Amino acid sequence: MAKLIILGSASALSDAQHDNTHLLLITDEQHILIDCPNNPYVRLQQVGLDPLQLDCLILTHFHPDHVSGLPTLLMNLWLRKRKAVLTIYGLRSTLDLFEKMMALFDWDQWENRYPVEIHYLANEVNQPVIHNQTIEIISSPVCHLIPTIGLRINHIQNGQSVVYSGDSEPCENVIDLAKGAQILIHEAAGEVKGHSSPQQAGMIAQQAGVTELILIHYAVPAIHSSPWNHEASSCFGGKVSLAEDGMEINF
Ligand SMILES: [Zn+2]
Ligand SMILES: [Zn+2]
Repeated sequence: MAKLIILGSASALSDAQHDNTHLLLITDEQHILIDCPNNPYVRLQQVGLDPLQLDCLILTHFHPDHVSGLPTLLMNLWLRKRKAVLTIYGLRSTLDLFEKMMALFDWDQWENRYPVEIHYLANEVNQPVIHNQTIEIISSPVCHLIPTIGLRINHIQNGQSVVYSGDSEPCENVIDLAKGAQILIHEAAGEVKGHSSPQQAGMIAQQAGVTELILIHYAVPAIHSSPWNHEASSCFGGKVSLAEDGMEINF
């Protein structure tokens, strides 16, 4: 079983119905949080997960709308007397800034803090991230304002794949990462440097040959009154939908 839950779907400006973009991947073996804005400790409980069950985090890049929740989440797990190791994956540039941020909170002085293991991902295509009996995750650099990764989740048993673009303008590496995948979850913050419009996301989905495109990291509330479906479908023949907070993708 692999289940991806959309914990947040908004770009940098969130609202009451749309948290900043982050995702929870659940397999029989592990609970994996992808990005960490705002207050995941509460968000995880809202989707029925005790945050103590988290095994690892993957950070796509060090922008506030993707990492601002880290100090609170890590402190809350400490207050809950977590004992188990928490493993964090990301690019070295991301994780160096993460450690600097946590040093501001003196996290080395937190008494009896649980261990945190840091795993650096090379800023190169097709890097292995996590591998368990159900899924494997690989990362590739994408085209954003700072070093950023996109992720491909391959279901080992049924051969299905889900790809998350991360924050990216139209990018060859996203096309390569998404080649032949069933679902591409692509950001749609708008046609500005480092980001993509729904139409551009559609172009990437078409070139990658995916079955389904899910738009995420969009501007709220503007997206809901825009012709996003028409725009994305103008260059992509598959199904297009809009990620919403709480949406579950089973694959
Ligand atoms: Zn960003
Ligand atoms: Zn962002």
